[in-house]
Amino acid sequence: MVTGGGSGIGRAIALELAAAGAAVVIGDIVAAAGEETAREATARGANAIAVTADVAREEDAARLVSTARQVFGRLDFLVNCAGNVSLAPVLELSEADWRALIAVHLTGTFLCCRAAFDAVSEAGGGVVSMSSSYAFKGRPGGAHYSAAKAGIFGFTRVLASELAPRATANVIAPGPIDTPRWRHGLSDAEYAAKRDKRVKDVPMGRLGAPEDIAEATLFLLGPHGRWITGQVLHVNGGEFYA
Ligand code: NAD
Repeated sequence: MVTGGGSGIGRAIALELAAAGAAVVIGDIVAAAGEETAREATARGANAIAVTADVAREEDAARLVSTARQVFGRLDFLVNCAGNVSLAPVLELSEADWRALIAVHLTGTFLCCRAAFDAVSEAGGGVVSMSSSYAFKGRPGGAHYSAAKAGIFGFTRVLASELAPRATANVIAPGPIDTPRWRHGLSDAEYAAKRDKRVKDVPMGRLGAPEDIAEATLFLLGPHGRWITGQVLHVNGGEFYA
């Protein structure tokens, strides 16, 4: 199951899982986006369904997992990718915006992991949750985002200890990834300027692609990642944060 599978990183992960032979449940708050990913995964020969859900709602997280179990009989892997974004300096950040972002990224990750815990444990599977380079470095305007993304790592360390020895739980901290969200609202010229400025911090000299994160996710969930748990994997083109 991939939350936020209707776009960007989650979409790429859902499609790579499908290509690797997994049946995939795509959970997304935007019905049309989730359904499009499910259609694409099906076109690639996989069993795939879309479930419209808001990960910040307890009953939606539970329904995502119960649907996966009803339709496919089991749930091996959970990938938490659902995410929204807003920016405001601390002095202008409203409590409502703080709570809304924490609700989706951090509480949503908790709710989905709790709902999926027994199934993933029984299957001997794994969880991967998206943190961010911004859990480790500051940027003005992103206090709520950095707090949520750092919280995902703290949460995952404990989750890993509780899922062990049956299943794994890890975090990926992506650097800048070229997704619809990263481009949101920018003209071509603004996008190019943002990209060129951001890439100066990236030794590999380019933005990441959603597939870069998908490959790392499949590694952590697959047979070569079975003794890796409670870790954060920085997939960021070599960007260094002191
Ligand atoms: P995206 O906007 O392209 O995709 C996010 C998806 O999540 C969308 O389909 C959206 O509809 C869905 N979503 C949003 N709120 C939801 C909710 N409450 N319930 C269910 N679905 C919801 O974004 P992306 O760039 O692919 O980011 C995916 C994840 O990776 C996010 O957690 C983001 O914070 C993280 N991340 C992204 C970058 C980047 O540079 N793009 C870097 C670091 C971390």
